Amino acid sequence: MITIALSKGRIYDEALPLLKAAGIIATEDPELSRKLILATNRRNVRILIVRSADVPTYVQYGAADLGIAGKDVLNEHGGRGLYQPLDLNIACCRMMVAVPAGFDYQQAVRQGARLRVATKYVQAAREHFAAKGVHVDLIKLYGSMELAPLTGLADAIVDLVATGNTLRANNLKAVEEIAPISARLIVNQAALKLKRDSIQPLLDALARAAA
Ligand code: AMP
Repeated sequence: MITIALSKGRIYDEALPLLKAAGIIATEDPELSRKLILATNRRNVRILIVRSADVPTYVQYGAADLGIAGKDVLNEHGGRGLYQPLDLNIACCRMMVAVPAGFDYQQAVRQGARLRVATKYVQAAREHFAAKGVHVDLIKLYGSMELAPLTGLADAIVDLVATGNTLRANNLKAVEEIAPISARLIVNQAALKLKRDSIQPLLDALARAAA
């Protein structure tokens, strides 16, 4: 049995065509079913539906052999025990620093101001501001980061930006790119060794589909 961990939403929707090209079709739609383990057209392949931040953990401990996770999530997880053979080029966006439209971020940085930054991506934010020599107090949030500068909780946020519509709708502007983000295939290192005969053809097919 090969078990693939996926999160619902953008990654699932954009991974479906790649999995299909690799010959794997889920027999149920996770948006319609409450099942967390989905069967596929292949008797030896099943799909686990987990929260996006939990995908690396399932694969790290071998509860799933493979998974698809955003680079943002992998950065925060640290990637221990994971083989990352493939950038799938899906769920693409950018991790950005954003501030209220009227805030002069560059000047605040030049003046050495200490900034309060709210984010879900504490690890990536810490590394980014440390590398720039900017002093920050990081505030961990779990969602709707855009609200933090609007309510005085923080001066800035670190968040994912795709079209920029969410920032614009909340009167915020992106001022700095931290990293380009896309979803990666991750594989449990032990599973790759023990089940190479069944996993390697899948990796090859996914690599062809993502190219
Ligand atoms: P947008 O309005 O298109 O710039 O999208 C920004 C919103 O979508 C933010 O709330 C982001 O956290 C979220 N978002 C954008 N791209 C992704 C992605 N690839 N994975 C997860 N969340 C994303």
